[in-house]
Amino acid sequence: MRRRTFTALLVGLAAVAALAGPRETRPPMAATPHIYTAKFDTTHSFDVRHYRLALRPAMTSDSLHGRQTIAAVSRTAGLDTVMLHCVRLAVDSVKLDGTAAGYRRPTDSLLVGMGGLASGQPFTLDIFYRAGNFSANGSYSRGYYWYPKGGQTLRTVGYTCSAPQDARKWMPCLDEPWDKADSGCVFEITAPDSFVTAANGVLSDTVRDGDLLTWRWEEASSIATYLMAFHVSRYSFWTDTARTSTGDTVPLLYFVWPQDSAQSCEAFANVPAMMECYTSRFGRYPFGKYAMAAVYPFVFGGMENQDMTTIIRNWIGTSDQYGIAHELSHMWFGDMVTCGTWADIWLNEGFASYCEAVYDEQATGRLPGAYMGQNFSAALSGNALIYPIYDPPMSLIYDFSMEYAKGAWVLHMLRWVMGEAAFWPMMRAYADSFAYGTAVTSDLQRIAEQHHGQGLDWFFDQWLRRPGHPRYTTVIYHRTAPDSNACRFTVKHWPSSGELYSMPVNMACSSAAGRKDTVVWLEAALSGPFHLETASPIIWARFDPDNWVLKSHNDSIPRMRAAVPGPCQISLVWNSFTADPAPPHGYIAYRGLAAGGPFARINGGIVPDTSYLDTGLVPGVRYYYTVAAVSGQDTCFQTRSSSSMSAIPTGVAGGPEEAAGPRVLWLSPTGANPSREAVRLEYHLPSAGRTRLAIYNLSGQLVRTVVDGFRTAGPQAAVWNGRDGAGRKAASGGYLAVLEWGGQRRTVRVNRVF
Ligand SMILES: [Zn+2]
Repeated sequence: MRRRTFTALLVGLAAVAALAGPRETRPPMAATPHIYTAKFDTTHSFDVRHYRLALRPAMTSDSLHGRQTIAAVSRTAGLDTVMLHCVRLAVDSVKLDGTAAGYRRPTDSLLVGMGGLASGQPFTLDIFYRAGNFSANGSYSRGYYWYPKGGQTLRTVGYTCSAPQDARKWMPCLDEPWDKADSGCVFEITAPDSFVTAANGVLSDTVRDGDLLTWRWEEASSIATYLMAFHVSRYSFWTDTARTSTGDTVPLLYFVWPQDSAQSCEAFANVPAMMECYTSRFGRYPFGKYAMAAVYPFVFGGMENQDMTTIIRNWIGTSDQYGIAHELSHMWFGDMVTCGTWADIWLNEGFASYCEAVYDEQATGRLPGAYMGQNFSAALSGNALIYPIYDPPMSLIYDFSMEYAKGAWVLHMLRWVMGEAAFWPMMRAYADSFAYGTAVTSDLQRIAEQHHGQGLDWFFDQWLRRPGHPRYTTVIYHRTAPDSNACRFTVKHWPSSGELYSMPVNMACSSAAGRKDTVVWLEAALSGPFHLETASPIIWARFDPDNWVLKSHNDSIPRMRAAVPGPCQISLVWNSFTADPAPPHGYIAYRGLAAGGPFARINGGIVPDTSYLDTGLVPGVRYYYTVAAVSGQDTCFQTRSSSSMSAIPTGVAGGPEEAAGPRVLWLSPTGANPSREAVRLEYHLPSAGRTRLAIYNLSGQLVRTVVDGFRTAGPQAAVWNGRDGAGRKAASGGYLAVLEWGGQRRTVRVNRVF
């Protein structure tokens, strides 16, 4: 299933490097027993083998009546009663093996008396029932939907949509994902002959009776009730064929309204390529055909009914390739391998969502991390911050942030942790092992551990059993001197859930000699510094550059603004950059004449403050600036530069800019700095107002207030006499001058030397 508001973008980013970096063996951790409960209710009293539905949708209203024939086997000695799910259906009669049977109707179920069948004894139930007035159940939970022609509903349409527990609203059944009907199902749908029907399986027969036509659709593969579906409308249909590299020929059937026919050819053109993509990764397409039927309105974007996907009509107009790919991939994950319980829904939706990235990778050639970052950042917010994705509240099993976005990330990270060589065979083994059956999370973990050769409790526990994600703040310095080929990473880790994560993360640097990847295990609150060396000068250094780990990440760089405080001047102000654990030694400012550089350094010594005044500039020319922080240990170690900011200096005093006054609050770096005597501080106010200028020591304690009162707009100056509030000489060393005006604050560093 896929939500409908999604719009995918194809962005042609070039792939930057090899797929996965080098890998380390994870250091041993204390073993924790894993927590997933075993399979499911293996003690159920009967097992459904087959459903046969003879249905007559009225098509002039939402009334529906029919007969459900259930072939099943007793799994208990003396089976007395069979319980079926049956919600708001009028049951007229029930037969057991062709003979009228007694039954009761407790709320939302149907209990049929069985008379004590032996274990292993097969039986058949025929249930004659009527349904209708579905819209009284609310728009999101009807099971069967019928709409007359009008608006975007181009033809009268009736269809079912059953995930997760709505099949029981249009047919009596054992509506649990763990009891798939092993031998499949049959639909015999009788409608006026102007209608076309579509359902699971392949069309085996049509039978005419006057103006009525009965369509017989046979699904041979095992099927879960939530994946059973039929559609009735005045469709035109067209076909195509997918020929896969495994030698299979898969018929493709498309049911669309006649007006959409031409456009649907374009929108569905890539289905054979998508099928080949998934076949090459996961094995043969599992069913006898693949179909899509377009409907409107629809509460979802798409629903992966077995070999018979329902899509909202809008996907044809928007050509939603990733929605189409998502639903197709469900045929492997969801339909062939069905989640055993709704607690394991991420095995359906996380997998199908990740398959969007798998298709993107093949179709565009870019790395899957590009698609993950663009489309699944929702994993960092919403309910994914509140609930683990394993065993979500029933109301949230289709929550996008949890089961789709974070579910996809979990699979992406499993690929990263296992590596390409183990991950893809694991996926194929998982598909093979549970084909046409069900799987739960512990099944996936077991298969993954077999292929990985190591326990993965640590991985499954932290990503599936906890809400949230790790947050990393990095400080990355690399050397800028021409003969210096090193970089240094420091990582602060503060997870959103409070518990630290353990993950391998790639730290990469690029030089003329190529890219060098270094994978490190991060599991502490503070890691590093990690020193990396290359053979030639480093061009860039990045943390997880290919986006393999779900995280929020802040790479510490200064953030800068540029302003014009006076003629031929541009002032630069940036935030104080809090490097962890050691503060930076200072900053280096760069100037250029284009946004993309080149930039040349403009300050002589290191700028210790968070501002810089560039003077002697040519009026009318646009200048661009960036600033980088400098490590305290070695001044040629610099951070990545800030984003470039630009400004155009004005002409001589009296020009329009000067007459209007400076537009920003600005505190000048001190001219004679460090100062042996008094320190002169110049500042500009955008308009008149209460102003405070005070000196603090580096511990943040007030030393002396220099200005505290009303000041007029424009340039101002004040002098700190180097003494504290009591008149004592302040100690030698660094101080901070802080200007406050109009709720804003500017800080410069002042060095007092005796
Ligand atoms: Zn889905």
